[in-house]
Amino acid sequence: MLPIERQKRIKELILDRHNMRISELSNEIGVSEMTIHRDLKPLIEEGIVIKTFGGVTLASKPTSKHNASDECILCSRKVNERLAYRLFLPNNTIEMACCAHCGLLRSRQLGNDHIQAICPDFLRQTTISAKVAWYVMDTSIHIGCCHPQILTFEWKEHADKFVKGFGGKVYSFSEAMESIFEKINGKDSCCSKQL
Ligand SMILES: [Zn+2]
Ligand SMILES: [Zn+2]
Repeated sequence: MLPIERQKRIKELILDRHNMRISELSNEIGVSEMTIHRDLKPLIEEGIVIKTFGGVTLASKPTSKHNASDECILCSRKVNERLAYRLFLPNNTIEMACCAHCGLLRSRQLGNDHIQAICPDFLRQTTISAKVAWYVMDTSIHIGCCHPQILTFEWKEHADKFVKGFGGKVYSFSEAMESIFEKINGKDSCCSKQL
């Protein structure tokens, strides 16, 4: 495997599992721990992962020197950490979207051109992988970002409970992505101009 492919694989593994030991990575990838350390260096410098004792963990608030902007890639709204949706591109850049609304639309635009996306759990503020997150649309709570608004949850149980209290509907990643696309094409949305 080329170093660049290894780094991509390492990034995918960490984004997926959040915490990994160097020995685990070395086993998974099939290279020495020293090579893993070397491959991790750029990821640590990019702010995607943080070094821990004997391992690495996914940074909860990745910062990238490549993208210092705190404006949404789609609608140019100022990004609020509580809702921020981040997309990881193969060329090591990170794109920021203001919320899952713009994030999902951007994910759809990019297709397979992005490796991973992460977003915060609305209740717990933990970082979750967008692909396995649950999306709540049409809820009565106002989050103060794009319309139709979308909230993200790590656990379906939380999303279901939220919907019970505040209304709306729960979607998986691909369902939410298609649904938001249809919705903004059907009628007025703050971001439909951008697509
Ligand atoms: Zn936006
Ligand atoms: Zn937004």
